[in-house]
Amino acid sequence: MTTYWCAHAWLPGGVASDVRIDVEDGVLKALIPGQPRTGTVLSGLVLPGFANEHSHAFHRALRGRTHHDRGTFWTWRERMYTLAGRLDPDSYYRLARGVFAEMTLAGYTSVSEFHYLHHAPGGRPYDDPNAMGYALAEAAADAGIRLTLLDTCYLAGGFGRPLDERQQRFGDADVDAWAQRVEAFKPPAQARVGAAVHSVRAVPDDQLPLVSGRPLHVHLSEQRAENEDCLAYHGRTPTRVLADAGVLGPDTVAVHATHLTEDDIRTLAETGTRVCICPTTERDLGDGIGPARALADAGVPLCLGSDSHAVIDPFEEAKALEMNERLGSERRGRFTTDELVAAATGPGLVAGAPADLVVVDLGSVRTAGIEPAAVVLAASAADVTDVFVAGRRVVRDRAHQLIERPETLLAKEIEALWRS
Ligand SMILES: [Zn+2]
Repeated sequence: MTTYWCAHAWLPGGVASDVRIDVEDGVLKALIPGQPRTGTVLSGLVLPGFANEHSHAFHRALRGRTHHDRGTFWTWRERMYTLAGRLDPDSYYRLARGVFAEMTLAGYTSVSEFHYLHHAPGGRPYDDPNAMGYALAEAAADAGIRLTLLDTCYLAGGFGRPLDERQQRFGDADVDAWAQRVEAFKPPAQARVGAAVHSVRAVPDDQLPLVSGRPLHVHLSEQRAENEDCLAYHGRTPTRVLADAGVLGPDTVAVHATHLTEDDIRTLAETGTRVCICPTTERDLGDGIGPARALADAGVPLCLGSDSHAVIDPFEEAKALEMNERLGSERRGRFTTDELVAAATGPGLVAGAPADLVVVDLGSVRTAGIEPAAVVLAASAADVTDVFVAGRRVVRDRAHQLIERPETLLAKEIEALWRS
């Protein structure tokens, strides 16, 4: 057993002081406030590990490279397709390794990777049809982050339209072929496999009930055009199409949920579906501001993701959840800091939970003088000093312990991709 002690820790009842934390076999054994200094001292505030519930690792290569395109989500998507066309299992692995290292440095201890880049250009399967999935799993293992690989079913290029040439890499022949490939994928330790429906655009509604897996994620109503096309084709909103096909439920995470009707919100709540908001991506892509407070009020559990990685900073995502609401409602204090931290983190700091811990510096220029309970509104990823995943110290004193200089790796890979 290893014993840590910290001046402050984010326990279920609020910020506690002088907390002793016992860890055994990667699991929290006990957290006891009001204890004398003992064991290894962690200076700052200890938070539960951040959970990145929506990621497309390769989109990181678009950061800082699309602003001059101007345009819309749909023009951005053209650039993303160009990038997707250049990746192979080796470069996918190297890029994802750098991205997952950036995530752990920012305090993310787990990532749900929404993985749809499956096959070689033209849709030809690799010798191992899961080569791209294994590349992600290996990259996550090397970076020390927990992975849920959400293998994504992607069968159509739009409502009633086949995949176009660039989308062939994403698709399988039908839902059975998708399921067979997923079945053959054997995740390494610290990874698990879930499933995803890319969107109501990409999976015909008669195939939707056949996509199964736990957890099950789905892009939902990120763009108004998706809603309009769906209404024109089905006469129903995307939420209603998913509900009618039995896709929604407590094991399902609907990603974005930006443009919803009141009936959609009710449906998500009644089915127990969780919603993942991706504020920094949604603002980067000009998606709009989703009804986060209305969803929470209806009883929909919220989580957060850095999605396209225009920004990798869990504090920024949590802060934006509140700030977007302020801009939209002209009111303040729309979410409590407890709600913001709950949306940003995985299991809390309780005995029996995985020992996924993040240490935040309360003495930086950003955090000096704040109330510790407001950390999520003041700190940034730069204030994360130490990160533990299953008790293993993956980040120490702001340095990744498994990957040397991830920034060098990222620069090399991204520049090579845009040169090719
Ligand atoms: Zn996405």
